[in-house]
Formats: sequence, C-alpha cells, structure tokens
Amino acid sequence: MHNKTLTELTQCLANKDCSSEELTQVFIDRIKLLDPSLNSFITINEEQALLAAREADQLRAAGKAKPLTGVPLAHKDIFCTKGIKTSCGSKMLDNFIAPYNATVVNKCNAAGMILLGKTNMDEFAMGSSNETSYYGYVRNPWDQACVPGGSSGGSAAAVAAGMTPAATGTDTGGSIRQPAAFCGITGLKPTYGRVSRYGMVAFASSLDQGGPMARTAEDVALLLNVMAGFDEQDSTSLDAPVPDHTATLNDSIAGLRIGIPQEYFREGLNPEVEAAIIKASQALEKLGAEIHEVSLPHTHLSAPTYYIIAPAECSSNLARFDGVRYGYRCDAPKDLDDLYMRSRDEGFGDEVKRRILIGTYALSAGYYDAYYLKAQKIRRLINDDFQQAFTKVDVLLSPTTPEPAFKIGEKVNDPIKMYLNDIYTIAVNLAGLPAISVPAGFVNDLPIGMQLIGNHLQEAKLLNIAHQYQQVTDWHQRQPEEV
Ligand code: GLN
Repeated sequence: MHNKTLTELTQCLANKDCSSEELTQVFIDRIKLLDPSLNSFITINEEQALLAAREADQLRAAGKAKPLTGVPLAHKDIFCTKGIKTSCGSKMLDNFIAPYNATVVNKCNAAGMILLGKTNMDEFAMGSSNETSYYGYVRNPWDQACVPGGSSGGSAAAVAAGMTPAATGTDTGGSIRQPAAFCGITGLKPTYGRVSRYGMVAFASSLDQGGPMARTAEDVALLLNVMAGFDEQDSTSLDAPVPDHTATLNDSIAGLRIGIPQEYFREGLNPEVEAAIIKASQALEKLGAEIHEVSLPHTHLSAPTYYIIAPAECSSNLARFDGVRYGYRCDAPKDLDDLYMRSRDEGFGDEVKRRILIGTYALSAGYYDAYYLKAQKIRRLINDDFQQAFTKVDVLLSPTTPEPAFKIGEKVNDPIKMYLNDIYTIAVNLAGLPAISVPAGFVNDLPIGMQLIGNHLQEAKLLNIAHQYQQVTDWHQRQPEEV
C-alpha cells in the first residue's frame, strides 16, 4: 500500500478497497518504523490524522467525497499549521504554534487530504543538504550515508521511503527540485505567484515558491491542481486561471521543441550524469520532440546574483525574529539590547547567521548600489536570456544537479561548494519560471534528475512532457531497498 501513487490510492478509496483510516495507519506505522533512522519528520500528527481520516471515511460513505478526500500527505515544516508546531527547522521557532493555516494547508484540507506530519528541512530553507536543520540531518533512503538534498529534504526522503505518498516543498533556489533529484522522486517548482505564499515562512520573498513533490508527474499534477490559485492574502499571487493540470498529461509531444542550454553542460558536470541526461533527451526525441542547442549567456552570473539577492531579502525577513514577537527568547536578559542580541545569537544556526551578515552588508549604505542594485540588473539579464531562448524552443532540458547525492558532512564546512550544487536550479527562481525535476537514471546507485524548464505558467506543458517520459521509462518506479 505504501508504494502506491496518489492516483492509485484515490482509486483504492473510491473502490472501497481500503478506508482512509486504514491507509493513514499504514503510513503512520511506516513513519514510526523508518523515521527513527531517516529523520524526515519534525512532527508526527498521529491522533489528528486518524481523526481526520475517520471523518473522511464518513464523508465518502455519505457520497460527499472529492477525489483526494482521505488521501494522506505531509507538509514541509515551513507551512503554518494551526495548532501544530511550525518550526522552519530552527531553534528560533521550536516553540512556535501558528494561530492560522497557510493557504496551501487550507487548500489541501479543503480537498480532504490528511496531514500525516511536518517534514524536516534546512533551517529557514537555507541549504542544499538538510544538514542545517536544528533537528538534525535527514538521511537519504537510497544510501543512508548520503544527504537527501535540501532544503525540502525531509519531504523528498519521506516520499522516496514510502512514509507519505506526497508532500509539499518550497523552492527558493532549487529546494524542491534538488532533493527530488537526489531521492528519485518528481518535484515541481511552479511559476512565481502560482501558489500562494501566505503562511509560508519567508526566506527570500521574491524567489520563494511552494510546490508539490510525489512519485510521478501525474501525482504532482493532481496536487498542483489543489495547491495553485489566486490568493488575495498574498500580494504577489497571480490572478490567472488555473487549468486542470491532469487534462493534458496524455497529449502527444510530437513537434515539441526542446532546448539544451549549452552552458549547463560544461565543467563541473559529472560525466555520467551528463550521459544519463543526454539519454533522457533521446527518449523524448523518440516521442517526437526536436532537440535544439540554445544559449543562456549569463548563466555564470546566476549563483553570485542569487547569493546577493537571497541573503539581502532574508536579512530583512528574519529581522522579525527578535525574541519579542515570535519564538525563542534568551534567559534573563540584562536589557533590551541584550534580549535582541542573545535571542538571535542563541536562536539562529550558523548558516542563517552567515546569510543575515551577507545580506545586511549588501544592503548597507555605500554598498547597496555595488551589490544589491547590480544583482537586480543582472537578474533582468538572466530573465532576458530565458525569454530569448523561449522564442526558439518551447522548453529547456538540463540536469537538475551536477552530481548525485553527496555524503553527509562532505560539503557542510565549505559553503561555496555547497552553493554550487544549485548551479542549474537558481536561475529559474531569479526569472520566476516553472521547472520540474523528473527521475532520469542512476549514477553510483543513486538517483539523478532531469530538469525541464518552461516559460511562465507553462506547468501543464512540463507535466505533460514529464508524464510522457514516465510512460516510456521506469526510473520513477524504482524504490530504495527497505530502509
Ligand atoms: N540551496 C539554496 C540556498 O541555500 C536554495 C534553497 C531553497 O531553495 N530554499 O539558498
């Protein structure tokens, strides 16, 4: 049962092969069995989940069920959940119980989905390995000595290990796609503004975007249908109609023009990853797509640009955690300054402090023009590169990451090395584009991902291509040995 896709589970429930209560119990039992070693969950929502499952079963018996009624999922611990701890992976919010739900949480609840728990993550979503979490690192179910990726590593590992059929994640520079790639699942970062950020703890507001993570493109489409849509409580939410993302999954991709950005296939890319991605592009060619080489000339500037803009926005967003309004407060402060300083010093981890320092520096008088303003100008050039490419092709194809999952501890003391893991994912956030990571092979017995990037609001196209690819490959069906 734990291996089934969301689509299969909705069928089981509809056919009365199982009840939601039974299903929820299966996943809770698996979490209890596997999570002591994988550490994917910060909070397990056992009692409330079983209660909600029984209610879902009653709704179904009364003929009032929606397609996903009674299907379990997990939320990344960055989404506020009323009455349930929302820690954002930080000591700062270890005691924070949100008084309201994020819009994404409300939408999943309204669809009848059952919340199994809240997943582990890098502190405030800053990281690529899940090693910055206050709650300890998460292990990759494919090789427990390896990281699951980050920052949505808890969600990715939980789906890969069959502890939940689906999960939410957030992606500021790759945090849905990179862990999806490392754990062999499918993850979509939607167009900026497509999914509401209301109630999603802010890291870098102009880049952050929530999205779905599951085994298959079809499941991701189902979940995106639930998550997407205009929200007047988020001032950057897009007021555009949401298509049924499952309706076009079976469209033919014959004639589709796929661009291969040459800058994404240069030094730093593991040759076996490269070979697997080329093979994946050939599979799409067999389905009738045309492959073209394209250029994104400002690619080399995306990491430096991101690592100015993201820290700048984070330094401003995280100013609210001052020991007064939210979260952790130090013991016996001498005076107000001491309270601010010690609460922040004791509440934040090293990576978060590093970003706040960089961001504050980049925004300070005298440096603002040299760093922040310059970065914003380059951001426009990066966006223009993509728009130029989309005049010639429909979508872009690349590896999601330069290499498969690395070992726990391998990069944690070398921030630059860690930052370069996002080299193929961050430009997408700078340009606000949608992109999906799809399982595309194995290197060293570890899964790797193919990234497909579309123009704004082209999620349905990306899901269509990913689904067609998954009809002719079985990478997404492989599962780690019992962990
Ligand atoms: N790894 C990137 C960072 O640390 C991206 C994180 C994310 O997408 N949340 O900033």
